Amino acid sequence: MTLKEKIKQVNKLLIKHFGIPERQKKLPKPVDTLIATILSQNTNDKNSYQAYQNLKKKYKTWEEVAKLPRAEIEKVIKVAGLGKQKSEAIKAFLSSLKKNKEKIDLAYIKNMNDDDILAELTSIKGIGVKTASCVLLFSLDRNVCPVDTHVHRTLNRIGIVKTKSPDKTFDSINKNLSDGIAHQFHTNLIKLGREVCKPAKPLCSFCPVQLECKFKHKNFEKVASVNSKNFLLLDSI
Ligand code: SF4
Repeated sequence: MTLKEKIKQVNKLLIKHFGIPERQKKLPKPVDTLIATILSQNTNDKNSYQAYQNLKKKYKTWEEVAKLPRAEIEKVIKVAGLGKQKSEAIKAFLSSLKKNKEKIDLAYIKNMNDDDILAELTSIKGIGVKTASCVLLFSLDRNVCPVDTHVHRTLNRIGIVKTKSPDKTFDSINKNLSDGIAHQFHTNLIKLGREVCKPAKPLCSFCPVQLECKFKHKNFEKVASVNSKNFLLLDSI
């Protein structure tokens, strides 16, 4: 089986188990997705959503946020944790977009191809491949699968890739992705990683891809049930 076929097969099994994840009718603007992704680092989606809403409700525009002292941003986003680093990253990101422009906007990237957008966004200090690829998928509806820690871990355990870092996993799977599956594959792998294929102890008895999985340390300890975690930040802003 080729890598492309393996991805297709696992995607099919995940859909059978989790369904096809719904998408919002109105996709978030690229700047919104970027800010939400910065807020989501090292916290859960509920806390980062709350921090994002705090910013959006308190300030009408990102231009207003860009003018705030860093410490003020830190206060507003406190619930997401790592306030100092995140407020610094948000301020630096908004300031870099504001340079030479009145309006903070990334609308121009819509006319660029995927590789050029990745290069453009990752050239901004503090923006990595994962964050840039979230913009491609969640704001521009491109067939690009971002790779976070859950996607990286599950794909390596299943044996679809054998990679040392999320960015290497990203390169490998995105060259082999069938048309139109990025959002479902990404979202269902995150659900798999959060609910079943947990970092310390995977719950392999509940796993929809158990027969495909090559992980050597499967865990079949009995647990009563699996907690469903359906709230996904970037499909909710
Ligand atoms: S069988 Fe176990 S290790 Fe493999 S993907 Fe499923 S939960 Fe993870």
